[in-house]
Amino acid sequence: MTSSTVKPLAGKTAIVTGSTSGIGLGIASALAAAGANLVLNGFGDVSGAVAQIEALGVAAVHHGADMSKPAEIEAMVAFAIDRFGAVDVLVNNAGIQHVASIDEFPVEKWDAIIAINLSSAFHAMRVALPLMRERGWGRVINIASVHGLVGSAGKSAYVAAKHGIIGLTKVAALENARTGVTVNAICPGFVLTPLVQKQIDDVAHRDSISSDAARSKLLGEKQPSEQFVTPEQIGKLAVFLCSDGADEIRGASMQIDGGWTAQ
Ligand code: NAD
Repeated sequence: MTSSTVKPLAGKTAIVTGSTSGIGLGIASALAAAGANLVLNGFGDVSGAVAQIEALGVAAVHHGADMSKPAEIEAMVAFAIDRFGAVDVLVNNAGIQHVASIDEFPVEKWDAIIAINLSSAFHAMRVALPLMRERGWGRVINIASVHGLVGSAGKSAYVAAKHGIIGLTKVAALENARTGVTVNAICPGFVLTPLVQKQIDDVAHRDSISSDAARSKLLGEKQPSEQFVTPEQIGKLAVFLCSDGADEIRGASMQIDGGWTAQ
């Protein structure tokens, strides 16, 4: 094999939380195509996700940690070390959504969104960053959102968690600025995943319009390109953040949003 055919992440290990679906599965696929072995996480079609990654010629295992539970997050990182001997790339992606005004926001939904969309990244970084520093190289990619930069009515917990993860990303980047470990956030606009399909269904139901009309309405209100961002595009950005070219990208929040936050 010539050096030009060696995949850039060959021999590296990546954990992608919430990677049985949507954006997480897209990122895991892109990292696997770049040669990384994968620890997948999340609920639902676990065997389908593992098979999809293994088909890319790398090793893939699944850990079922619930991202709202710190001890299970620690166990997931320990499992990665046990299975592969290292955690080189950590993508904090697992997330949930609930849409309601503050007055009507269920308290248990607030707590769950803050735990899964924000605190889980703290707990995973808390245990993974020292391991990366020991090896002199690492990449943490936090999947924030345009909602880490701007608000939308009805999304109090989500917007609070996503603004929080951007702040957490900056602090983690600064604490590791003199090491080979970088920490950055990706801020997608609308991506057509189950998380967004539920919002489309809710708008269709609320306004008595078709699913197609609801989809156009949601996009048209926020995303100037009127195109969904794709998990594949986000995966390619994640692979770039793992490359040498990104060595000095530290604490950044990178929008991939069809122009949403340019307005
Ligand atoms: P999705 O619903 O398709 O996938 C969510 C993943 O998280 C699934 O694998 C699910 O099993 C997992 N998950 C949920 N709760 C979990 C828990 N408690 N423990 C472990 N895993 C859990 O959603 P998605 O749209 O792919 O979202 C992924 C991330 O991208 C989220 O952080 C979301 O906020 C963010 N994001 C999504 C969009 C969008 O438009 N879809 C835009 C910006 C940011």
